[in-house]
Order: sequence, then C-alpha cells, then structure tokens
Amino acid sequence: MANIKVNEVIGRIPTQLYVNGQWKDSSSGQTFTVINPATEEKLADVASATPEDGMAALDAAVAAQREWARTPSRKRAQILWDAFDRVTELKDDFASVMTAEMGKPLDQAYGEVTYGAEFLRWFAEGATRTMGNYYPTPEGNIQVVTIKRPVGPCLLVTPWNFPLAMATRKVAPALAAGCTTILKPAEATPLTSLLFVRVLEEVGVPKGVVNIVPTSSTPAMTGPMISDPRLRKLSFTGSTQVGRALLREAAQNVLRTSMELGGLAPFIVFEDADLDLAVEAALATKMRNMGEACNAASRFYVHESVAQEFTEKFAAGMSKMVVGNGMEDGVDVGPIVSARQLASVEELVERSVAAGAKIEVGGKRLDQPGFFFPPTVLTVEGADNPLLEEEVFGPVAPVYSFASEEEVLELANRSQYGLAGYVYTRDMQRIIRLGEELEVGMIGVNSGTISNAAAPFGGVKASGLGREGGVEGIEEYLETIYLGTPRA
Ligand code: NAD
Repeated sequence: MANIKVNEVIGRIPTQLYVNGQWKDSSSGQTFTVINPATEEKLADVASATPEDGMAALDAAVAAQREWARTPSRKRAQILWDAFDRVTELKDDFASVMTAEMGKPLDQAYGEVTYGAEFLRWFAEGATRTMGNYYPTPEGNIQVVTIKRPVGPCLLVTPWNFPLAMATRKVAPALAAGCTTILKPAEATPLTSLLFVRVLEEVGVPKGVVNIVPTSSTPAMTGPMISDPRLRKLSFTGSTQVGRALLREAAQNVLRTSMELGGLAPFIVFEDADLDLAVEAALATKMRNMGEACNAASRFYVHESVAQEFTEKFAAGMSKMVVGNGMEDGVDVGPIVSARQLASVEELVERSVAAGAKIEVGGKRLDQPGFFFPPTVLTVEGADNPLLEEEVFGPVAPVYSFASEEEVLELANRSQYGLAGYVYTRDMQRIIRLGEELEVGMIGVNSGTISNAAAPFGGVKASGLGREGGVEGIEEYLETIYLGTPRA
C-alpha cells in the first residue's frame, strides 16, 4: 500500500473550479494551499472561488435544473452506477489522496472509499423508486394524487473529516432526485472532492448539474448564493456553530435545509456487558478517523462495578496504538487535521485536567513535525467536566463511572447534542427502554459501527435536522406535490 505515489495521483487531479461543465481558474486568479497534516508539506494550490464564481455556479445549476429533472430516472441512475464503478476502480487514488490531505491511515481511507462509493450505488437504486400516491379522501369527495418533484438547485457544504463520503452522501441523492448541485468542500480537503467531480464529468453528468467551488473565503462566497431565491436547498455537514449561522441565513428565503451537525456520543457500558467486546468496540469507535468523527464515542459512562477493569483494558489498548504518518504500514492513528484543530484538542484536555480529570494514558501533543496527539484516556469525577460537555474531535476518551440506569440516562441526555449513542448490555428490556429514552438519532447496540449507506444517518436536538442515507435520504431532495380533483 505504502508505495502509491501520491504526488503523481495529485498531479492528475484538476485544481480549478468546475462550473457549467468547464474547469476554470478563480475570477480573482487566487488560490489557496492544501497541506499534508502528517508532514506539514504543501500538496497543491487550489483555485479559490469568489462570490462571482459562486453565483456563476448557481446560474449554471439553475439553467440545468429543468432538463435534469426531466431526464428519465433510469438514465440518472445509470450515471450514478457508472460513478460507483469508476470511484471503485480509482480506489487507490481516492484512498491515497484522502490520507495525504486529512491524515487518516490508508486502510481507513480504503474503508471510506467503500463506504463513500456505496452512496452512489444505493441512490442509483433509489432513483427509479420516487413514487407518489393516489387515494380518495375519507369523505369520498376528492381524489388525492401526490407526486414527487426535485426541490431544485442545491448548495452542498461538506466537512474535512470524511472528504469522499460526505460528498457522495449529498451529491448522490440530489442527482437521483433530479436536483442540480453546487458542492463546496472543506478548505482542508478539496482534492478528494475535485477528483470525485472529475469522475462525475467522465461518466457523463451534463454541464451545470454538478459544479464545485472550493474557496478560502467561505461565508463571503456562499452568502450571496444563499440569499438568492433561485437556490432551493442547503445541505450542510459540519459544526453546530456554523449550522446555526447557516440556518439563520437560510431563513431569509425559507430554504429547505438538511443539517448534519456536531455530536458527543455517550458510550454506555452496563454491569452485564461483555466487557472485552465493549473494550474492543470502544477502541474502534473512539479511534476511527483519529476521533475526528461526529458519531465517535465521546463520553464513556461505565457502571461502577466494572469501571476499573474497563478503564485498565481500554487504556492498555489505547497505549498500544501506533501513531504516525497514515501512509505508512502499521499506523493506527494519523495526525490531527490541522494545527488549529490540534490546539483545540490540547486546550480541551488541559481544561479537563484543571477541572479534576486524571490522565491514564497520553495527554500531551507529540513533539515532532505534523499535528500529532496520542491516544488519551482520562478518568473523570465531576459530571460537568468540559470533556463530558464539549465535542473534542480528537483521540481523547473521558471515562466516568455511574451507579444506575436512571443516573446514566440523565447524564447522557444532559447534552445539547443528540447524534449517536452506544449501549453495551445483554438486557433486552433495557435496550428497548434506552431506545425509547436516549435522546439521540442513532444507537449502536452492542456494536460500535453504525454508519451505512442503507441506514438513516442523522441526529436530534443540536445535532441537526434531516437524515442522510437510508430510504429517507432521497426524500431530503424531494417535494411532495398534491393534486386534488372532485371525485366523479
Ligand atoms: P465546520 O463547521 O468548521 O466546517 C464545515 C464546512 O462548512 C466546511 O466546508 C467549511 O468551509 C464550511 N463553513 C465554515 N463556516 C461557514 C460559514 N460561515 N458559512 C458557510 N460555510 C461555512 O466543521 P469542520 O471543522 O469542517 O467539521 C467538523 C464538524 O463537523 C464537527 O462538529 C463534526 O461533529 C461535524 N460533522 C458532523 C457530521 C454529521 O453527519 N452529523 C459528519 C461529519 C462532521
């Protein structure tokens, strides 16, 4: 794996904007630099879209909307199938670029290619099944006919942590539904998205249907688009803070919105759990993507009767993980995505320790080039410790011991976030009780793996609005239109 020549791969990726079927420079001529967080070396300079470029992308998406909506769904589905095949063929390129620009170990990057490509296949299958309904009203006087219609041009804003999957999870259902799109990738990771758009161009997506506008001045570029009533939908994945700001902007034109925001997933281990299985899942669910996942286990609540044993085994597992450049074989934990993100992880750990947390393993950034933070476990006594309340987005795990189901439910639901939760117990009735009462959108039951294109991904409370993937995913891009006529 390690002998992939990433510079050659990057040399083949277009670094311009793609607007109305043309690759072009920014109208200001400006670019921004993408770096490798493992080495701090430059990978590429990418065109930085201006507000005018954003509006040109919107013009193109608006112009292409009607024709794309009228394109037979079988044809739209075929394009998505072809894109699935091509992304899969290019798995080495996609995996190595993701590792280079955001740091995840190469084997995890391959995992993301499989996961990300699956959205193309899943929504290809769904494209031909967007059906309406027909029924008479109960009074028998009106015939109700419902049809599904694409919402219209969509702005899709994605984060850096899953650069391929977050793009396919939005672009695929939008195209399947018959919507045109403008993709705005995160500044740290535009190369994966540019390669993905190149694939879409290759497989014959018509001009204007997909546009990509990376930029280093995001709000200035996205603001005018969001204010323009021709834009009909905003789908955003990122922090709750930015999501809130975008919801305010979107209110102006009453835009349809999907918001996949932050998380602070509780990982709850009861006294009857299979402890070794729980430890294994805790390691995987915490450390996948270096902890930089919205559904990463963030708060470990462990029953007091097993807390010590769990913590010892968990800390031992964490300390064995190999930290390094994700391109190298045998590395489990790559760098944090940026100097800024590393500083924020470090600062949160310091505040947690100041509030009484005890470091069991890790705790300090590594003194070497690149943005490395070691796997870290802390035992926490106060239930209001900062690490139990704020999203860390890094390889840091606070463990808190609880006494009863009632107590842990109250602790878990205390957070403003409600994305994912994980529960380890053998008690079926307890599982159902928690399913009813844990305030999250997704629950892993004796499982640390919940992401799947076929399942509805999304949160409650400040973790967002809407669902991506599953049969729900395409509905986010469809309107239900009702036609009523008197019944003869
Ligand atoms: P971020 O909110 O800083 O940025 C996300 C995207 O929004 C980027 O493309 C960024 O350029 C853009 N953006 C930033 N400010 C903007 C503004 N004012 N207007 C318009 N766009 C703006 O988040 P991030 O640091 O890239 O990603 C990490 C966050 O994403 C975490 O909070 C994580 O939990 C969340 N996340 C959520 C999910 C989910 O499905 N719920 C998935 C992945 C990540």
